[in-house]
Amino acid sequence: MLRMRNVVILLGSPGAGKGTQARLLRERFRIPKISTGDILRQQAQNGNGAHTLATQMNAGGLVPDDVVNRAVVERIQLADCERGFVLDGYPRNLSQARFLESQLHPPDRILAIEIQAQCEDLLFRLLSRTYCPRCGTTYTTQNDAAGVQRRCEECGGLLQKRKDDREDVIRTRFKEYEQVTGPLIAHYAASGVFHQVHGNLPVHQVFNRIEALVQQALSIPMPQTA
Ligand SMILES: [Zn+2]
Repeated sequence: MLRMRNVVILLGSPGAGKGTQARLLRERFRIPKISTGDILRQQAQNGNGAHTLATQMNAGGLVPDDVVNRAVVERIQLADCERGFVLDGYPRNLSQARFLESQLHPPDRILAIEIQAQCEDLLFRLLSRTYCPRCGTTYTTQNDAAGVQRRCEECGGLLQKRKDDREDVIRTRFKEYEQVTGPLIAHYAASGVFHQVHGNLPVHQVFNRIEALVQQALSIPMPQTA
Protein backbone atom coordinates (compact mmCIF):
# COMPACT_ATOMS: atom_id res chain seq x y z
CA MET A 1 0.00 0.00 0.00
CA LEU A 2 1.21 3.49 -0.81
CA ARG A 3 1.96 5.72 2.12
CA MET A 4 0.47 9.15 2.23
CA ARG A 5 2.88 12.01 1.62
CA ASN A 6 2.14 15.47 2.99
CA VAL A 7 3.35 18.04 0.51
CA VAL A 8 3.72 21.57 1.87
CA ILE A 9 4.36 24.21 -0.81
CA LEU A 10 5.64 27.56 0.42
CA LEU A 11 5.02 30.51 -1.86
CA GLY A 12 6.22 34.05 -1.35
CA SER A 13 8.15 36.78 -3.09
CA PRO A 14 11.92 37.03 -2.69
CA GLY A 15 12.63 38.21 0.84
CA ALA A 16 9.29 37.05 2.29
CA GLY A 17 11.09 34.46 4.44
CA LYS A 18 10.27 31.17 2.68
CA GLY A 19 13.67 29.62 3.40
CA THR A 20 13.50 30.36 7.12
CA GLN A 21 9.96 29.05 7.48
CA ALA A 22 10.79 25.94 5.44
CA ARG A 23 13.68 25.21 7.83
CA LEU A 24 11.39 25.63 10.85
CA LEU A 25 8.83 23.25 9.30
CA ARG A 26 11.55 20.70 8.67
CA GLU A 27 12.62 20.82 12.30
CA ARG A 28 9.07 20.76 13.63
CA PHE A 29 7.61 17.97 11.50
CA ARG A 30 10.82 16.12 10.58
CA ILE A 31 10.11 16.19 6.89
CA PRO A 32 12.83 17.31 4.48
CA LYS A 33 12.98 20.81 3.05
CA ILE A 34 13.49 20.74 -0.68
CA SER A 35 14.81 23.86 -2.31
CA THR A 36 15.41 23.64 -6.05
CA GLY A 37 18.23 26.16 -5.70
CA ASP A 38 20.00 23.87 -3.23
CA ILE A 39 19.51 20.74 -5.38
CA LEU A 40 20.83 22.33 -8.55
CA ARG A 41 23.81 23.86 -6.79
CA GLN A 42 24.58 20.48 -5.22
CA GLN A 43 24.33 18.72 -8.59
CA ALA A 44 26.76 21.26 -9.99
CA GLN A 45 29.21 20.54 -7.17
CA ASN A 46 28.92 16.79 -7.76
CA GLY A 47 29.89 17.38 -11.36
CA ASN A 48 26.55 16.39 -12.86
CA GLY A 49 26.97 18.76 -15.76
CA ALA A 50 24.66 21.28 -14.17
CA HIS A 51 27.45 23.73 -13.66
CA THR A 52 26.26 26.20 -16.24
CA LEU A 53 22.80 26.01 -14.70
CA ALA A 54 24.10 26.88 -11.29
CA THR A 55 25.97 29.80 -12.77
CA GLN A 56 22.83 30.89 -14.55
CA MET A 57 20.85 30.65 -11.31
CA ASN A 58 23.37 32.63 -9.34
CA ALA A 59 23.15 35.32 -11.97
CA GLY A 60 19.40 35.47 -11.30
CA GLY A 61 18.50 33.67 -14.53
CA LEU A 62 15.69 31.17 -14.78
CA VAL A 63 16.39 27.46 -15.14
CA PRO A 64 14.17 25.69 -17.73
CA ASP A 65 11.11 23.88 -16.32
CA ASP A 66 12.17 20.41 -17.45
CA VAL A 67 15.52 20.67 -15.67
CA VAL A 68 13.92 21.81 -12.43
CA ASN A 69 11.13 19.21 -12.71
CA ARG A 70 13.63 16.40 -13.20
CA ALA A 71 15.69 17.54 -10.22
CA VAL A 72 12.60 17.59 -7.99
CA VAL A 73 11.37 14.16 -9.13
CA GLU A 74 14.73 12.61 -8.33
CA ARG A 75 14.77 14.27 -4.95
CA ILE A 76 11.25 13.29 -3.84
CA GLN A 77 11.90 9.65 -4.65
CA LEU A 78 14.46 9.43 -1.86
CA ALA A 79 13.46 7.54 1.27
CA ASP A 80 13.37 10.57 3.55
CA CYS A 81 10.40 11.93 1.57
CA GLU A 82 8.09 9.00 2.28
CA ARG A 83 6.04 10.92 4.90
CA GLY A 84 6.14 14.17 3.02
CA PHE A 85 8.29 17.20 2.28
CA VAL A 86 8.37 21.00 2.22
CA LEU A 87 8.97 22.68 -1.13
CA ASP A 88 10.73 26.04 -1.11
CA GLY A 89 10.90 27.80 -4.47
CA TYR A 90 8.98 25.13 -6.40
CA PRO A 91 6.62 25.01 -8.21
CA ARG A 92 7.35 28.45 -9.59
CA ASN A 93 4.64 28.49 -12.28
CA LEU A 94 1.49 26.68 -13.32
CA SER A 95 3.27 24.27 -15.64
CA GLN A 96 5.60 23.12 -12.84
CA ALA A 97 2.58 22.76 -10.53
CA ARG A 98 0.80 20.50 -13.04
CA PHE A 99 3.96 18.45 -13.43
CA LEU A 100 4.30 18.03 -9.67
CA GLU A 101 0.71 16.80 -9.45
CA SER A 102 1.38 14.25 -12.18
CA GLN A 103 4.09 12.82 -9.93
CA LEU A 104 1.85 12.51 -6.87
CA HIS A 105 -0.75 9.82 -6.31
CA PRO A 106 -3.60 9.24 -3.90
CA PRO A 107 -3.52 9.46 -0.92
CA ASP A 108 -0.88 12.23 -1.14
CA ARG A 109 -2.04 15.63 0.06
CA ILE A 110 -0.98 19.15 -0.92
CA LEU A 111 -1.10 22.32 1.14
CA ALA A 112 -0.01 25.60 -0.49
CA ILE A 113 0.80 28.50 1.82
CA GLU A 114 1.75 31.96 0.60
CA ILE A 115 3.82 34.11 2.92
CA GLN A 116 2.34 37.43 1.97
CA ALA A 117 4.44 40.56 1.90
CA GLN A 118 3.98 44.09 0.67
CA CYS A 119 6.58 45.42 -1.72
CA GLU A 120 7.30 48.41 0.58
CA ASP A 121 7.92 46.13 3.59
CA LEU A 122 10.27 43.98 1.54
CA LEU A 123 12.12 47.01 0.28
CA PHE A 124 12.70 48.19 3.81
CA ARG A 125 13.86 44.76 4.93
CA LEU A 126 16.06 43.95 1.95
CA LEU A 127 17.62 47.39 1.58
CA SER A 128 18.74 47.40 5.20
CA ARG A 129 20.23 43.92 4.90
CA THR A 130 23.95 43.25 4.84
CA TYR A 131 25.76 39.96 4.92
CA CYS A 132 29.19 38.57 5.67
CA PRO A 133 30.73 37.05 2.52
CA ARG A 134 33.09 35.00 4.67
CA CYS A 135 30.64 33.10 6.91
CA GLY A 136 27.24 33.93 5.38
CA THR A 137 25.67 35.56 8.45
CA THR A 138 22.96 38.09 7.51
CA TYR A 139 22.47 41.36 9.37
CA THR A 140 19.51 43.73 9.21
CA THR A 141 21.36 46.87 10.27
CA GLN A 142 22.87 49.29 7.80
CA ASN A 143 26.36 50.67 7.79
CA ASP A 144 26.67 53.40 10.40
CA ALA A 145 25.90 57.01 9.59
CA ALA A 146 29.50 57.87 8.77
CA GLY A 147 29.36 55.22 6.04
CA VAL A 148 32.01 53.09 7.74
CA GLN A 149 31.68 49.47 6.71
CA ARG A 150 30.71 47.30 9.69
CA ARG A 151 32.37 44.02 10.58
CA CYS A 152 30.80 40.60 11.15
CA GLU A 153 30.20 39.81 14.83
CA GLU A 154 30.96 36.12 14.17
CA CYS A 155 34.19 36.25 12.19
CA GLY A 156 35.21 39.89 11.72
CA GLY A 157 34.64 39.85 7.96
CA LEU A 158 33.62 43.10 6.26
CA LEU A 159 29.84 43.25 5.77
CA GLN A 160 28.54 43.85 2.27
CA LYS A 161 25.25 44.35 0.53
CA ARG A 162 24.01 41.64 -1.79
CA LYS A 163 24.26 42.66 -5.43
CA ASP A 164 20.56 42.08 -6.02
CA ASP A 165 19.38 44.01 -2.93
CA ARG A 166 18.79 47.22 -4.86
CA GLU A 167 15.51 49.05 -5.05
CA ASP A 168 15.00 48.71 -8.81
CA VAL A 169 15.94 45.02 -8.75
CA ILE A 170 13.67 44.33 -5.78
CA ARG A 171 10.71 46.08 -7.42
CA THR A 172 11.23 44.11 -10.62
CA ARG A 173 11.48 40.79 -8.75
CA PHE A 174 8.34 41.61 -6.80
CA LYS A 175 6.38 42.40 -9.96
CA GLU A 176 7.63 39.23 -11.66
CA TYR A 177 6.62 37.19 -8.64
CA GLU A 178 3.07 38.57 -8.70
CA GLN A 179 2.70 37.95 -12.43
CA VAL A 180 3.96 34.38 -12.40
CA THR A 181 2.40 33.37 -9.11
CA GLY A 182 -1.09 34.75 -9.80
CA PRO A 183 -2.20 31.76 -11.91
CA LEU A 184 -0.51 29.37 -9.48
CA ILE A 185 -2.47 30.80 -6.55
CA ALA A 186 -5.72 30.67 -8.54
CA HIS A 187 -4.98 27.02 -9.30
CA TYR A 188 -4.45 26.05 -5.65
CA ALA A 189 -7.37 28.19 -4.48
CA ALA A 190 -9.65 26.38 -6.92
CA SER A 191 -8.51 23.08 -5.40
CA GLY A 192 -9.26 24.38 -1.91
CA VAL A 193 -5.68 23.88 -0.69
CA PHE A 194 -4.52 27.50 -0.64
CA HIS A 195 -3.85 29.64 2.44
CA GLN A 196 -2.11 32.95 3.09
CA VAL A 197 -0.21 34.13 6.13
CA HIS A 198 0.91 37.67 6.81
CA GLY A 199 4.67 37.78 6.43
CA ASN A 200 5.53 41.11 8.00
CA LEU A 201 5.58 39.76 11.55
CA PRO A 202 8.33 38.33 13.73
CA VAL A 203 9.55 34.97 12.39
CA HIS A 204 8.06 32.91 15.24
CA GLN A 205 4.62 34.48 14.84
CA VAL A 206 4.61 33.71 11.14
CA PHE A 207 5.67 30.18 11.96
CA ASN A 208 2.95 29.69 14.60
CA ARG A 209 0.35 30.42 11.96
CA ILE A 210 1.96 28.14 9.36
CA GLU A 211 2.36 25.37 11.89
CA ALA A 212 -1.33 25.59 12.82
CA LEU A 213 -2.33 25.44 9.15
CA VAL A 214 -0.17 22.41 8.51
CA GLN A 215 -1.51 20.55 11.52
CA GLN A 216 -5.09 21.42 10.75
CA ALA A 217 -4.98 20.65 7.04
CA LEU A 218 -2.66 17.67 6.99
CA SER A 219 -2.74 16.38 10.54
CA ILE A 220 0.86 15.34 10.38
CA PRO A 221 1.59 13.58 13.66
CA MET A 222 3.67 15.92 15.76
CA PRO A 223 7.00 14.38 16.79
CA GLN A 224 7.46 14.28 20.55
CA THR A 225 9.26 17.38 21.74
CA ALA A 226 12.20 16.84 24.02
ZN1 LIG B 1 31.33 36.47 9.27
